[in-house]
Amino acid sequence: MNTHDVQIQLKGIHKHYGQLEVLKGIDLDVHKGEVVVLIGPSGSGKSTLLRCVNMLEEPTDGQILFQTQLVNDRKRSHRTREKYLNGMRMKVGMVFQHFNLFPHLTVLENITLAPTQLQGIDPKQASAQAEELLEKVGVLDKRNVYPGNLSGGQKQRVAIARALALKPDAMLFDEPTSALDPEMVGGVLSVMEGLAKSGMTMIVVTHEMRFAEKVADRVVFMADGNIVEQGTPAQVFGNPQHQRTQQFLADIG
Ligand code: ADP
Ligand code: MG
Repeated sequence: MNTHDVQIQLKGIHKHYGQLEVLKGIDLDVHKGEVVVLIGPSGSGKSTLLRCVNMLEEPTDGQILFQTQLVNDRKRSHRTREKYLNGMRMKVGMVFQHFNLFPHLTVLENITLAPTQLQGIDPKQASAQAEELLEKVGVLDKRNVYPGNLSGGQKQRVAIARALALKPDAMLFDEPTSALDPEMVGGVLSVMEGLAKSGMTMIVVTHEMRFAEKVADRVVFMADGNIVEQGTPAQVFGNPQHQRTQQFLADIG
């Protein structure tokens, strides 16, 4: 792949919480349109890694680049830094295990809030665009409902639509289906699959191995703060090279 196409680049990322070293030197390039699925045991650092990408956590050491710009540039003044990070976070959408919708806003308002407040989009235009997105994720009929009246799967699809409303260049997903009832999982995964097919650059932490097998361009296996191995789904699932990977796949299989 062409190096100009690199969207997200992690170089030697370390993260400590006090004495605890949670990330031990992560190198990872994610290319435009690539879908990277991150797997690994609980506590291996997957969430921390995702949170470092958009600086919800600051790495202790190493470099994060987004579209070739240094994200964790310590030389910026406080104001410049906040401005840059706010801009960058609109370009890198994030969806969490818990949906974090605003409970006092309707579905439509949840989606139009950031475009109107942060991007100065005209409210009418923002609403029209929000309805388009709700249609795409299959919950347009819920546009005037409050989040408390949605199922978990519907909430998560709204959360995805909300992130997409900012027209991101990349999306990060941290176990988006782990908190859902089993019958809700498929709908959310199919929205994500559609997004992947549309060419979105994605990093997805998930235990849904069939989704990984079908949708991932690359599977990255992490353990104890390191990338242990990576490859195509066929390589990692079909012919894992490391004992840790083999053990993990056997445990979840
Ligand atoms: P994963 O998402 O793979 O389950 P995490 O990134 O959530 O792993 O956590 C990796 C390790 O970092 C765990 O040992 C966890 O307890 C620790 N950790 C995560 N966040 C914090 C924090 N804010 N303070 C201290 N330790 C943390
Ligand atoms: Mg996690």
